[in-house]
Amino acid sequence: MSAYLIQNVSILGAEPTDLLLDAGVVAAIGAEASSPEAEVIDAAGLIALPGLVDLHTHLREPGREDAETVESGTQAAALGGFTAVHAMANTEPVADTAGVVEQVWRLGREAGYCDVYPIGAVTVGLAGEQLAELGAMADSAARVRVFSDDGKCVSDAVLMRRALEYVKAFDGVIAQHAQEPRLTEGAQMNEGELSGRLGLTGWPAVAEEAIIARDCLLAAHVGSRLHVCHVSTAGSVEIVREAKRKGWDVTAEACPHHLLLTDDLAETYDPIYKVNPPLRSTADTEALRAGLADGTIDIVATDHAPHPHEDKDCEWAAAAFGMLGLETALSIVQETMVDPGLLDWAGVAERMSYAPARIGRVADHGRPIEVGAPANVVLYDPAARRTIEASASASLSRNTPYAGMELPGRVVATFLRGKATVLDGKLA
Ligand SMILES: [Zn+2]
Repeated sequence: MSAYLIQNVSILGAEPTDLLLDAGVVAAIGAEASSPEAEVIDAAGLIALPGLVDLHTHLREPGREDAETVESGTQAAALGGFTAVHAMANTEPVADTAGVVEQVWRLGREAGYCDVYPIGAVTVGLAGEQLAELGAMADSAARVRVFSDDGKCVSDAVLMRRALEYVKAFDGVIAQHAQEPRLTEGAQMNEGELSGRLGLTGWPAVAEEAIIARDCLLAAHVGSRLHVCHVSTAGSVEIVREAKRKGWDVTAEACPHHLLLTDDLAETYDPIYKVNPPLRSTADTEALRAGLADGTIDIVATDHAPHPHEDKDCEWAAAAFGMLGLETALSIVQETMVDPGLLDWAGVAERMSYAPARIGRVADHGRPIEVGAPANVVLYDPAARRTIEASASASLSRNTPYAGMELPGRVVATFLRGKATVLDGKLA
């Protein structure tokens, strides 16, 4: 394995220094960083961040390899600066047994672009009726610690309580997709004046907030860990803030698209903007940004949701929910959080690497860049500008809402345990 001597790099935005990656670890920093054999990278102007960790990725394999595979999805992840992703369980078959989670875990290792941590389903077949084999998935080679029926809400309060109780035995966490099913029957977009005008069934904020409030109370009652997926409303941020104030073990994520995009895009009737939960109001995006800045929202998670064109290039009501996110996440966090002064690069490292690794109980990712740590590192050029092209994505799908948009920043290189997965902005 080759060593890399990264010269004049700014670790988390600090004064430029040299960084030596060798034998899979951060071997030296500063004056001691030298090696005659190492490949030299001139990193003047670049920032080094710890390899990003996504707690919410849809890799679609097994079952929907027309939309994404573990290989293509982890290529997109590496290009976005990620060294670890958690793969959601709503595959076909559903990842609700030790066999399926081990298959996904193994495919990730074989592809080699990014470590893949499978998320186990909470209920059998995501049907919301019977708990899946949580213990068997936790004990499997995939060592599952995050469980979610994402795509669907665990709406039955008794099942949710049992799941929260069960995962305590192995320090697991339930990641809830908070969507009260009755309040969102047929829902297509954020409920408001615009949904009425467009004739699309509205998705009220309370459908999300009611479930989050209930689950915070349940998690506190049984003394377990709750993680709230893709928080999208100002009211949800308030509920999580209150739960944290009470000392409850609740964490939450926001998605890049909910930080940047708003519901008025539905006026185009272009299903590229159809997502679950839906794009909300400007006031909601501002509350999410403020929550992410003050730590109420712990992490940014992509909810990367690839769909083949036939599931997106149709009328709004028939189109699938979801958008791509892995290759653009860091740029959108720069645009919405760093450039406006809401977050510095250390704050980005916390929310896109350290905290998601902590929540997922992943030991070898989300570590500060210091001597002896695994060499999971991303080099990022914050001064670059790029226009997003859907056709340039490594994903097998093309459903990016950012096509044609100019965004700041570019991932220059990604290292997974010292091995370059991306060099010069391209797969290595
Ligand atoms: Zn979801």
